[in-house]
Amino acid sequence: MEKINALSIDLEEWYHSELVERGKSPLSQVEEATQSILDLLERYRTKATFFVVGEVAEQHPDLIRSIFQRDHEIGCHTFSHTLVWNLGENLFREELKRFHVVMAEILGEVKIKGFRAPCFSIDNRNKWALKVLLDFGYQYDASIFPLKINPLYGVSGAPTRPYRISFEDVRESDPSSSLMEYPLCPLEIGKLKIPISGGFYLRSLPLPFLYWGLRRINRNQSFLVYFHPWEGYEKTPRFKLPLYNRVISYYGISSALKEFEFLLKHFKFARVDQVLGLE
Ligand SMILES: [Zn+2]
Repeated sequence: MEKINALSIDLEEWYHSELVERGKSPLSQVEEATQSILDLLERYRTKATFFVVGEVAEQHPDLIRSIFQRDHEIGCHTFSHTLVWNLGENLFREELKRFHVVMAEILGEVKIKGFRAPCFSIDNRNKWALKVLLDFGYQYDASIFPLKINPLYGVSGAPTRPYRISFEDVRESDPSSSLMEYPLCPLEIGKLKIPISGGFYLRSLPLPFLYWGLRRINRNQSFLVYFHPWEGYEKTPRFKLPLYNRVISYYGISSALKEFEFLLKHFKFARVDQVLGLE
């Protein structure tokens, strides 16, 4: 039977991207950039999870309402897109509180089940964040990147399929834990693990390889896709960044929506909560 994969969009502005480091800008593109994603989801009758940055929701409540009314899942991507590593426990709680106040104003009392940390910024150094998520009623986290290939993030040795996450060690599963983790699922070839299902990795891979790799993952399990509105938007401002940051941030933006559509055409997707059976 064909596997159903999880589709997630991190709903943020172009300037939230960590490597761009421009700070807040009055130039907002999130509405137009998200519209093309919503249109594609509509065309392929697919539901997704949108991990929303609270300050984006505050400025664009109608966008959030329209996403919610289309039956997509709303999750949390913090209030200000500050990396969780750079927040102490109290500031993290403040971020979540502000997010929930804004969301209640926009959507009423809607249960928010899922969280994704900006730039996958949860690992064993700040595992306290998982308990905070539980306090706020979250049922799952999707912030573990189970590979260390990026200097900024990654937990090598973490599971590569959904698990009940231990509060003592994020790499361990604990059947008694009430928080699910949906990590990024890399392509595994022998001992080699290659991330292919999101962000830069998704933008940079040739479609035949992407297709082959994702089909290969689907032989055994489902995978989780993550995508950002600015990644698929032609007018995303490009700045002179150091080479590494420039490539990771901008490579493939002009063709990324096509890759996104390719995924929708060839694979089955649902919201993260649906794939985890938390609906
Ligand atoms: Zn983000």
